[in-house]
Amino acid sequence: MTTSHITHLECTRTGETAKAGRLHNLSAAGAPLFARYDLDALRGVLTKDSFAGRPANFWRYSELLPVRDRANISSLGETFTPLIPLERLAGGNASIKDEGRLPTGSFKARGLALSIAMAKELGVTRVAIPTNGNAGAATAAYASRAGIESFVFCPDDTPDINVRETALQGGKVWRCNGLIDQCGRIVHAGEKEAGWFNIATLREPYRVEGKKTMGIELAEQLGWQVPDVIFYPTGGGTGLIGMWKAFAELEAVGLIGSKRPRMIAVQASGCAPIVRAWNKGAQCAERWDDASTAAAGIRVPAAIGDFLILRALRESDGFAIAVEEEEIFDARAHTARDEGLLLCPEGAATVAGYSKALESGQVGPDDRAILFNCGNGLKYPMPDDVPRLDLDAPIDWAMFD
Ligand SMILES: *Cc1c(COP(=O)(O)O)cnc(C)c1O
Repeated sequence: MTTSHITHLECTRTGETAKAGRLHNLSAAGAPLFARYDLDALRGVLTKDSFAGRPANFWRYSELLPVRDRANISSLGETFTPLIPLERLAGGNASIKDEGRLPTGSFKARGLALSIAMAKELGVTRVAIPTNGNAGAATAAYASRAGIESFVFCPDDTPDINVRETALQGGKVWRCNGLIDQCGRIVHAGEKEAGWFNIATLREPYRVEGKKTMGIELAEQLGWQVPDVIFYPTGGGTGLIGMWKAFAELEAVGLIGSKRPRMIAVQASGCAPIVRAWNKGAQCAERWDDASTAAAGIRVPAAIGDFLILRALRESDGFAIAVEEEEIFDARAHTARDEGLLLCPEGAATVAGYSKALESGQVGPDDRAILFNCGNGLKYPMPDDVPRLDLDAPIDWAMFD
């Protein structure tokens, strides 16, 4: 009943291996573990034609996913996400990959669907996670569906709607007086104290496998080609790291060639540890103190996968770029007004980053660019500058001119 070609896990720092089919958090060296597959066996066997007739969602890539028994999958109606060209943005060649269409309204559904399926496969009954919002909502939804208890810890300034949707979907959720890495500490302590399985970003090996499907799906949508550049709003960096992993696996099985997109990490200037490390030429990033941005998904002062993000930027000839709060909200406003697309602030940050990179010449006008909108824009506070109309008073028709 298995199509998964997972063979083992591997430490991203030392290469030390660990067994598949049992529970793991970090490696013995304290680094994220990657799932490895028998790619040789798939070479020339897993082809473009293999996917015909499979479900139109990321579960179709089952050979390259870790789930061994499909009965462990809880589905909430996952779907492909569309590529929508930006038609009015002057001088570029960009499309939005709109991840807001996924269950729970964000791409966190990809990672958590995988993480929860694997938790179920490996006998976990209680999971815990620190989150700035969307990961908690996706955890609660998939865990509830799978019959797993979920414990969710959010910084105080997590968007209200995320905290409430998490609670409604059966997550046991707390607002905490600390940033996401500080919330991570109680989750870690609870592994021992409360018997939680820790599913924080990159602290178990399977969320990144879910996020990697963004890269596979994107390549398939482009006819098994990759774009020239990818702008990714980077918090923990799971998606960027996952896509980079996906492209290597796709080349190894022969589904794509050796071309790679340039990977661009976009961060907010109020929390830009990866940009700072990139500019220094560092291999790792120092914690960003007093992190602050309204783009909650990228308010991550310290990422355990920092070295993997920076490595992918280097290997892909990409870069890291910071955008100001004002640029994020301007980009959200003009993309909504000009294109009819309501982005989340993190998605708007990629539009702002792209515009800046075009202007500075870091990206060419003909480069095919993919900008990730990671969440549904409706989940975020919006400005309320709508005038009132008194229907009992005489109407001044001139104002509609
Ligand atoms: C989690 C999240 C991000 C950051 O994703 P990573 O892969 O963890 O870097 C960006 N935007 C939104 C809306 C998110 O929920």
